[in-house]
Amino acid sequence: MNNMKKGDHKLIQALNRSKVLNKIRTEGPISRIDLAKKNNISPSTVASAVQELIKDGYVVEIGTGSSSGGRKPILLQFNPNNHYLFAVAITNSLIILAAMNLEASILKKATFPIDGLQGKELVERLLQLTDDFIRSYGGGGQCVGLSVTVPGIVSDTQGVVYYNTKLRMENVPLKRIMEEQYGLRVWVENDMNSVALAERRFGNYAYSNLIYISIGDGLGSGILINDTLLRGKHGGAGEFGHTSVNWNGIRCECGNIGCLDTSISWVAIYSRIITAIATGRPTLIQELSGGDYAKIDPSMYKEALRRGDRLAISINEEVAEHLGAGIVNLVNMFNPEALILGGEMALGNEELLAMVRNYIGRHAMPILANDMVFGLASLGGDDKLIGAAAVLLQDLFGFSLIESSI
Ligand SMILES: [Zn+2]
Repeated sequence: MNNMKKGDHKLIQALNRSKVLNKIRTEGPISRIDLAKKNNISPSTVASAVQELIKDGYVVEIGTGSSSGGRKPILLQFNPNNHYLFAVAITNSLIILAAMNLEASILKKATFPIDGLQGKELVERLLQLTDDFIRSYGGGGQCVGLSVTVPGIVSDTQGVVYYNTKLRMENVPLKRIMEEQYGLRVWVENDMNSVALAERRFGNYAYSNLIYISIGDGLGSGILINDTLLRGKHGGAGEFGHTSVNWNGIRCECGNIGCLDTSISWVAIYSRIITAIATGRPTLIQELSGGDYAKIDPSMYKEALRRGDRLAISINEEVAEHLGAGIVNLVNMFNPEALILGGEMALGNEELLAMVRNYIGRHAMPILANDMVFGLASLGGDDKLIGAAAVLLQDLFGFSLIESSI
């Protein structure tokens, strides 16, 4: 320890602080002495970390706990409300902005349509909306940063959106642009990765090996391995929708032929529905749309399913088979503890879940599939905002872990 540099010392202090904060967050209300004992941290390290955390407003002292005699200890609790963060979720059709506390609860939210904007125009609109939102946010407390989630190939370390075909974003240095503009620390992450992290941290799936799959406009996934996101060299890992499944399939926007995306994403389903209507096949969806086929969306499709529409049921069965086959590959490749199905096509679609579960049961290696948790996403419509918060909180405070008591 003698040749420890000053920088190392600071780093160790910061790590201790973050470790102590996490313990207070997950084990609180807890006394200083229990914190030290339970986690094998020296009482003096706990004391100095706690002092700083209280001073900075991350931790508060509340009441007193029980004691077997002598003075009763003061209890410490995490305080998520003295600070806030900004979250921005860019989807292929919306820009959603929010201010959130440090437990990812939404304090204020605003949603705007993208209106077909692409490339530079989209970035300009994003900056203008974010600017307005930050200016108008009147909440108290201190801002810890801004976190953006966006579909496509994203470098989290560079904060660059390398590639998004639908939004025509290519090599956009979002982190640098926004940090310069707002003077805040900025995080940029792929949307699927962020939701995988959020399901782990804030959802019903507290597993360190999990895969989140979203089936909606496109088909994507986020893969968490030993509590670390699998990103790959360019941040492109998890492009589940572009796994190649049909040599004779149709051309995909990625340039390949027969990607899974081209057979079961909503775009593919929509075109199947339109074709069925055009060839005179009777379906409730036609009735529900009132003849305005542009209005047909996943919720209409799910409504038709609920009412027993035969076209919707047969499409759902087909989706289950294709998706099931893709998922079996993931199960056999990654052996996840939990696999989560989200996105507009899946939410509330219990039949799809049941059919895919059945498919996995028949086709995956039994030893890998038998005790795997398989369920629908648990975070609802704000999942990407919660995801953005999860990315920031993990990086700033190491919040990804729902820590075990080891
Ligand atoms: Zn593709």
